[in-house]
Amino acid sequence: MTTSGAPAPTSPPIRASEALQKKLAKIGLQSEADLLVHLPLRYEDETRITPVNRSFANEPVQVEVVVHSNEIQFRPRRQMIVRAADESGEITLRFFSFYPNQQAALSEGSRIRAFGEVRGGFFGAEMVHPRFRKVGDDEPLPSELTPIYSTTAGLANSALQKLIGKALAVGDLSETLPEELRQRLKLPGLARSLRFLHTPPPGTDLDTLHARNHPAWRRVKFDEVLAQQLSLRRAYLARREQGAPVLVARDDLGARLLDQLPFGLTGAQLRAMAEIANDLAQPYPMQRLLQGDVGAGKTIVAALAACQAISAGWQAAFMAPTEILAEQHYLKLKDWLEPLGVKVAWLSGSLKTKAKREQLAATAAEAQLVVGTHALIQDGVDFAKLGLAIVDEQHRFGVAQRLALRKKGDNPHQLMMSATPIPRTLAMSYYADLDVTVLDELPPGRTPIKTRLIADNRRDDVVGFVKKAVEEGRQAYWVCPLIEESEALQLQTAQETYDFLFEQFSGLTVGLVHGRLKADEKQAVMAAFAAGDIDVLVATTVIEVGVDVPNASLMVIEHAERFGLSQLHQLRGRVGRGKYESSCVLIYAGPLGEIARQRLKIIFENTDGFEIARQDLQIRGPGEFVGARQSGVPLLRYADLEMDADLVEMARDVAEEMLTEHLELAERHLKRWLGSREELLKS
Ligand code: ADP
Ligand code: MG
Repeated sequence: MTTSGAPAPTSPPIRASEALQKKLAKIGLQSEADLLVHLPLRYEDETRITPVNRSFANEPVQVEVVVHSNEIQFRPRRQMIVRAADESGEITLRFFSFYPNQQAALSEGSRIRAFGEVRGGFFGAEMVHPRFRKVGDDEPLPSELTPIYSTTAGLANSALQKLIGKALAVGDLSETLPEELRQRLKLPGLARSLRFLHTPPPGTDLDTLHARNHPAWRRVKFDEVLAQQLSLRRAYLARREQGAPVLVARDDLGARLLDQLPFGLTGAQLRAMAEIANDLAQPYPMQRLLQGDVGAGKTIVAALAACQAISAGWQAAFMAPTEILAEQHYLKLKDWLEPLGVKVAWLSGSLKTKAKREQLAATAAEAQLVVGTHALIQDGVDFAKLGLAIVDEQHRFGVAQRLALRKKGDNPHQLMMSATPIPRTLAMSYYADLDVTVLDELPPGRTPIKTRLIADNRRDDVVGFVKKAVEEGRQAYWVCPLIEESEALQLQTAQETYDFLFEQFSGLTVGLVHGRLKADEKQAVMAAFAAGDIDVLVATTVIEVGVDVPNASLMVIEHAERFGLSQLHQLRGRVGRGKYESSCVLIYAGPLGEIARQRLKIIFENTDGFEIARQDLQIRGPGEFVGARQSGVPLLRYADLEMDADLVEMARDVAEEMLTEHLELAERHLKRWLGSREELLKS
């Protein structure tokens, strides 16, 4: 974006030896600003000394003792045993790992202060791995709580504390919230808040500090959330400043597609279509996320967007995360569009050399729609004139991959799709750089899916359900247990499940599909299932996304307790796609823990993906929801998207205001809170 005024100054690097700088960099500390916002994990009270004979308690205490002896033992395992005492009694300090300099500091005659929990051990009072420090006689006690920072091997808390103290004395603590705004939000000043958190004054209540709802913590969390909003919003605006092709339909391709569909669009689909059509006609790139529950009908909306691009004389690309899904899209889109004269190309990793050469040539020349997997973003794929990039199941792709697709054109419009419903505050936080359209209506005529929970030892009943479904002319999926730790084991289990079912279902056709099959083998199995030649498809989660076989009416999932709820919801969404009554059987292996029980209850009781996500968030926290970005650097260190939801809402409005009215402050705010990590956000 165009920045008026000078760029925000960069915070000076930390002055320290090269070795120390390296250690600091390991925990993301490179500049003074980084130090200032490296806030304590917790605090310890070292303002008091507790006599050894009164130190048994459930909370950690500080003792001051003189070392009597120090020996290394090798049995039952290597350890350093330090015996020490004060006037009231003796205590043993036990270390299972230690550096030579620590051993030296704990030599006979040393006076030390040790902080930790005291337990009754074999030799009486004992501390295991206490934090300790050598002190002189009559060394004064600190008057403040000791902040405990996250640190790394070989970097003592006290060293970090010193560096941060220095940064607090000389560093830039200037305010980045406009005064009027700060008062309106009722937040304390930044300098005051940071000083308070790094060096809480004597008498500050430990519990309040640890609970993190002190106003100073709120200020920090707000700043952090604001930085995230500013960054995403700024990236959004920056992309908007780049030009994009104006895609105005020059013929009635879209209308002809609609005419030949066997169904009419839902109201939600019509609204989405209108929004997208408007975006595409702008001279800047669309950055839209189309969110809709499983089966909401996103594909046709995307196809209509593609029609607009094509009829404006440009190409559209349609990328999906798995071979199975991509091929299914390809077949469907070809089916819809080729009769209308649209040239559709197909790119996937499994293409043979000759076919690949042909498809690449088409992509570089006459193809109007190119459907494929990651193969679309490989080197050597050239588009003649890419105007619209569509990414299905976008959370399955990394930031870099989505960017790579965009790079295949000259700033094309972007449509991303996702069936992973995420709760509102998370959406606000993670999609602040996107416009979001929600398909909040399922096409009519869907038969509700009946969900059953069945314990492992009643597998025979389930076999009966499958037989019955097949007798009625339907088909079934049987999803194998998920084994995240080992792909080999996963494969083995899939094979065993297949063997078991093959025996159970003599007379029926049983197919097996898993991630290790070659692409063309996978396609052959899927095609056979879609054609009705396979009755029961044993599968791993490769069928989780998108697969659409309306005649399948039964979904069996083994070890359902091992799956994520959104995964279960996606899997369940594979049935109930036709006019037949459908059901989903979740087989679980007991005994279930409390959380597992709650989660299965959620999926059992709810059919709305957003509601499932909301409840899941409540019991699990936000970690799982954020898709590709969750694998990046954790951007929020202090704020919690669920607990601090109100801050997210506030920050979103403030970000908008700051980017229009206080740009210079906004830039400084970003530098302070994101520092070098900001690069990682750019997508
Ligand atoms: P998703 O949003 O999960 O990607 P799809 O686009 O695969 O959903 O659509 C699911 C099924 O519903 C497809 O078979 C599709 O053709 C059908 N469908 C889409 N829109 C409608 C509609 N308005 N009325 C009836 N069926 C529809
Ligand atoms: Mg889909």
